[in-house]
Amino acid sequence: MIAELARLLGPENVLTEKEDLIAYSFDGTAALRQLPRIVVFPRHAADVSAVLKLARAHRAPVVTRGSGTGLSGGSVPVEGALVLCLLKLDKILELDPRNLTLRVEAGVITQKIYEAADAAGLFYPPDPGSMKVSTIGGNVAENAGGLRGLKYGVTRDYVVGLEVVLADGSVCWFGGKCVKDVAGYNLRDLFIGSEGTLGVVTQVLLKLLPKPAARQTLLATYASMEAAAETVSAIIAAKIIPCTLEFLDRKTIRCVEDYAHVGLPTDAEALLLIEADGHPAAVAEDAAQIETLCRTHGAAAVKRAANDEEAARLTAARRSAFSALARTKPTTILEDATVPRSELAKMIRFVGQTAEKHRLDVATFGHFGDGNLHPTFLTDERDPAEMHRVEMAMREIFGHALSLGGTITGEHGVGLAKKAFLRQQLGDASYALLKQIKHVLDPENILNPGKIFD
Ligand SMILES: Cc1cc2nc3c(=O)[nH]c(=O)nc-3n(C[C@H](O)[C@H](O)[C@H](O)COP(=O)(O)OP(=O)(O)OC[C@H]3O[C@@H](n4cnc5c(N)ncnc54)[C@H](O)[C@@H]3O)c2cc1C
Repeated sequence: MIAELARLLGPENVLTEKEDLIAYSFDGTAALRQLPRIVVFPRHAADVSAVLKLARAHRAPVVTRGSGTGLSGGSVPVEGALVLCLLKLDKILELDPRNLTLRVEAGVITQKIYEAADAAGLFYPPDPGSMKVSTIGGNVAENAGGLRGLKYGVTRDYVVGLEVVLADGSVCWFGGKCVKDVAGYNLRDLFIGSEGTLGVVTQVLLKLLPKPAARQTLLATYASMEAAAETVSAIIAAKIIPCTLEFLDRKTIRCVEDYAHVGLPTDAEALLLIEADGHPAAVAEDAAQIETLCRTHGAAAVKRAANDEEAARLTAARRSAFSALARTKPTTILEDATVPRSELAKMIRFVGQTAEKHRLDVATFGHFGDGNLHPTFLTDERDPAEMHRVEMAMREIFGHALSLGGTITGEHGVGLAKKAFLRQQLGDASYALLKQIKHVLDPENILNPGKIFD
């Protein structure tokens, strides 16, 4: 099989040495690793098709990989896996200003998509914290969210077409440039968020928006998380939908300031990063109203970014939260339990109590406007007793999120990390249906086996 792969793709696109394979044995998820058998770098959908046909003939498990920034173990290899790394499918193929679409290969880095749209006066809103590294294929496979999710939604809301290679090697297109199209089942959406278990995405047709003419970034600090949560409810109740509504708790603020030195107040209990965008007059009005609401709901201080550079610095500081926390302990386990917005304050309180009960170090930040929080356990995987306590705490946190009408994952996917909790969320009938769909599309179970379910 190795010889055949080298013939198909060229020997420079096939890795088999242990030293090379190690780099593909983990992703962004803590404490999960497995050496693959082979790593290959296709350059076209035709290469992907040929590799899948070969893998199928040899019954070899295939783990598709973008940049490996996933946080649920989705691209961690299974034993004996062939890793199909799409980083060489890196071309921006067509920007169509009349239809406001951008067609790209799956290995294009998310930031490049933002920049290509921006250069044409257009806007690609999904901005995961990892966008400088993650691929659009990985974003589609995880249906990634980002800091602008509250107003603009997630990756799914911008995918209008997909090229997908199926497990048998056939190449399909789903969707296209038509704004309206109801021909047949919506299979495009089936592949979005399928975590590499149903097919390999090789091209993505994205919808773009006109670039907002103005934005204003605000930073509000609080002596209590409850007051910050009340402010968020008040902003939404005032019928203002900012594009960004992020929060950091005390521990995260301290770690970020220590790392990024942007002048965050390290004595604050909570911090809100808020951004309004749109027409200049609307942005000015919204920003003024947001500032008033922050103050009347107990903000100790509200600061407006003086210019674009300052706004970019503050947003970059928020984006660095994971990296900043990761410096404090050997192992960082970042979760993404999500609840209806109205339940967020309760959920944050529960996370704090659970951490205390299990004697764990936890910091929490996330997308307040989306009800999506990232309780981050700062721990050490070499300490089995502490890892056991982390597991117990996570179980309780997911259980509580579900009891509040929430979900075990708002944006990172199920992968390996959360598959034990999926049935509890979906119920037996829906869970069985998911498995049937997987069986129809991948009867030999070669695509990312063991992810999402056993
Ligand atoms: C610092 C940091 C910040 C992050 N911030 C966010 C955030 O704000 N929002 C968010 O949603 N996530 C975030 N993430 C998680 C992660 O970046 C996203 O899930 C991202 O979409 C993964 O992209 P990737 O290219 O790294 O994919 P990988 O990690 O390589 O793969 C992820 C999954 O997608 C599958 N896959 C990859 N490419 C394809 C393809 N072409 N076809 C089919 N399946 C494929 C893989 O098999 C795997 O199951 C963050 C991660 C880090 C490390």
